[in-house]
Amino acid sequence: MKPNKAVIDYLATPRPFLVNGEWITSDENLIENSIDPATEKVIGSFYAAAIQDVNKAITAAHSSFQQKNWRGKTPSEMAKHLWTIADLIDEHGDTLAYLETLDGGKPFAAARYGEVSMAAESFRYYAGWCSKIGGRTTDISIPGDFHSYTKKEPIGVVGLITPWNGPLVMAAWKIAPALAAGCSLVIKPSELTSLSTLYLGKLISEAGIPDGVVNIVPGDGETVGATIVNSPMVKKVSFTGSTETGKKLIQASAGNLKKLTLELGGKSPVLVFDDADLGKAIPGIADGIFSNAGQVCVAGSRLYAAPEIYDDLLSGLIDYANNLRVGSGLDPKTQMGPLISAQHRNKVLRYISDGIDQGAKVEAGGNKIDGDGFFIEPTILSDVAPSNCVAQEEIFGPVLSIIKIENMDEAIVQANASNYGLAGSVWTQDISKAHKIASEINAGIFWINCHGIPDMAVPFGGYNQSGWGREGGPEGLDYYLETKSVIAAL
Ligand code: ADP
Repeated sequence: MKPNKAVIDYLATPRPFLVNGEWITSDENLIENSIDPATEKVIGSFYAAAIQDVNKAITAAHSSFQQKNWRGKTPSEMAKHLWTIADLIDEHGDTLAYLETLDGGKPFAAARYGEVSMAAESFRYYAGWCSKIGGRTTDISIPGDFHSYTKKEPIGVVGLITPWNGPLVMAAWKIAPALAAGCSLVIKPSELTSLSTLYLGKLISEAGIPDGVVNIVPGDGETVGATIVNSPMVKKVSFTGSTETGKKLIQASAGNLKKLTLELGGKSPVLVFDDADLGKAIPGIADGIFSNAGQVCVAGSRLYAAPEIYDDLLSGLIDYANNLRVGSGLDPKTQMGPLISAQHRNKVLRYISDGIDQGAKVEAGGNKIDGDGFFIEPTILSDVAPSNCVAQEEIFGPVLSIIKIENMDEAIVQANASNYGLAGSVWTQDISKAHKIASEINAGIFWINCHGIPDMAVPFGGYNQSGWGREGGPEGLDYYLETKSVIAAL
């Protein structure tokens, strides 16, 4: 496949960034290259925001909030705008998907029919909420004649910081509820994958969102990201990224008590009982770890299998891994693309070799793939001790660790013996057992006989060190709102 003309034209010049409705290009700004991880070649570039640009963006968002340019609109008008953004995303779906494939290495079909569609759906879902935000009346017990009610108000200017593994969809997951709540915002995409968020900015402007309400400032985390987090004008930050960076944000926000929602790392357990339908479990589990080359926070990376089906499950998974088509996302036959960068691939390979040093056995893959692109083989490790680093730490690559267990009671204990608590899944045909396990496992989202299925209506976020708060559903919207209580003496 070849990228369409719209993508080629878009990538022909360095992409400007968006502050107060203006697309900024300036000799004073650094131009950052974007690399295709499948070829290691430069595909395009963008202007990185400097600290003064970020401050201008925050001020613009603040003024638009003060002037009620957006939050002053009726719920119906807001909903129409969000719905228009969704339609524009669909209309430009191929272009956005090519950008995700070229910039992040995703197979085109996954980008086009998974992530781009879900980005559009985020705006449609929260368009529906614009007219449903409201407070309640309360009868109070203080003697006298009073009328009391609550109101929901937008929290103010919000800072949105996204990672490289799903740039468009994560931008949409944050921008849509922020706008539905009536907030103004400054978003910083990952320095590795900024192009699709900048393109989304074009569509948001085209949809008629007033100037200053949505500002996009690409650049690195330590300068652009930290400026957003440190600004007292920014009332809340929604962050998706590593647990390590999440902890830095907590420290940086301590000074101004900024509200934070953090969607961080995971080490999701997958439990397979002896009555599982292996015909469905094998591709489902493999997809749960190998999709997006394992660069997914909910990747099912720890496998606990009942001894009765262990051999059949393992041989099915090995077969799947060995036959997975690894290559460029532009090849329609590709099932797994590259890792995002050379540095990240080195990190994943180091985990594999440390895991082997700590006693794991390689059942499939384990190596980098020579040639251009940051490819590695889909990897399965068995005989993994619970204390092994590949059982404990988030690898963020296509590496499945099969943990040694004697029985499924032990599996439940082991599954919960983690610092993380983002997701998990169980495979069994016994419906009662499935729901019991769902309530036993410490995880923000849990799947039964599937893994990794997202939906905007379903809250998403983590227990333990996997984060604070939720995205999606009414819960996700609430983090962009404040509750005001009013008591009137009549
Ligand atoms: P990853 O390792 O997956 O890239 P990070 O947590 O490093 O995850 O990055 C996620 C996002 O956080 C990126 O947009 C990155 O630029 C940003 N970021 C990194 N460091 C900071 C920081 N100190 N303050 C704010 N944002 C940061």
